Amino acid sequence: MINQCTLAAPILFSGIGVHSGNRINVVLRPAESGNGIVFHRQLGNRTVSIKACAENVVDTRMATVLGHGDATISTVEHLLATLYAFGIDNLHIDIDGPEVPVMDGSALCFVDQIRATGIRRLRATRKYLTIRKPIDLVSGEKRISIIPSRFFRITFDIAFDHPSIALQNHAIKVTPGSFSQEVAPARTFGFLKEYEYLKARNLAQGASLENTVVIGEQGILNPEGLRFHDEFVRHKILDIIGDFSLLGYPILGHVKAYKSGHQTNHEMVTRILASPDHWKLAEFSQRDLRAAFGTTPNPYLAEPALSKA
Ligand SMILES: [Zn+2]
Repeated sequence: MINQCTLAAPILFSGIGVHSGNRINVVLRPAESGNGIVFHRQLGNRTVSIKACAENVVDTRMATVLGHGDATISTVEHLLATLYAFGIDNLHIDIDGPEVPVMDGSALCFVDQIRATGIRRLRATRKYLTIRKPIDLVSGEKRISIIPSRFFRITFDIAFDHPSIALQNHAIKVTPGSFSQEVAPARTFGFLKEYEYLKARNLAQGASLENTVVIGEQGILNPEGLRFHDEFVRHKILDIIGDFSLLGYPILGHVKAYKSGHQTNHEMVTRILASPDHWKLAEFSQRDLRAAFGTTPNPYLAEPALSKA
């Protein structure tokens, strides 16, 4: 059977929060089977633990925000997407500020550190949320649906009334390799007009051309240009993987999204969890998944793998 995983060793990183502009320190620590992904937010001399799950989402306007009591952690999506794509089920995340550092606006540095550190297999088996019947959500012009699939697939379409973006489409079968190459490097983006509006309201204090693709009326303002011609839709895929990680289980299904954002992603996750007759939890053997993925499902597993947990 495929087992749950955690990191092989701790990872430390620090960086600027995109909204607060403050420097924030994060430690990712290996956790035992059944722990899930849990943030431990330092608030003065106390610590508030917040599990990364859909029930703890408290805001989706600017980013996905988890909260419990007076403690919140914003912009969790890029880090959570990376953990999900690499099959890391259990982790402690110590954090001393109100948001996950934005780094370069993408998930690239999380990928690099996880690859360098490796992943450790735990003793308990992993359950996959396997979609059996389609589920749909329509919210204004935003649409999102999920249909049965042997893989975790995402097909995303966006349409912006700006020539630098216009219509973009990207489809991916999510594996550690495809995530690293096609999705993780895609950066956060925003329009110059929105940025000026946010700055005036004390938001986006840490945003800069170092961590955001900024779109002005004449085009992209970043001197280095884009990392992909369709970097925008790839970033939307990064965001939706992070938001879907809050299901609490790896998912096997094909997600089709049109113009979806954090709010509709979260509504869809909530709808899936509220529709247990549309999916089942299943365990798989290495052989099942190798047949599905064509290669070993997780090439970043550190071996020898078994821990005492
Ligand atoms: Zn994002």
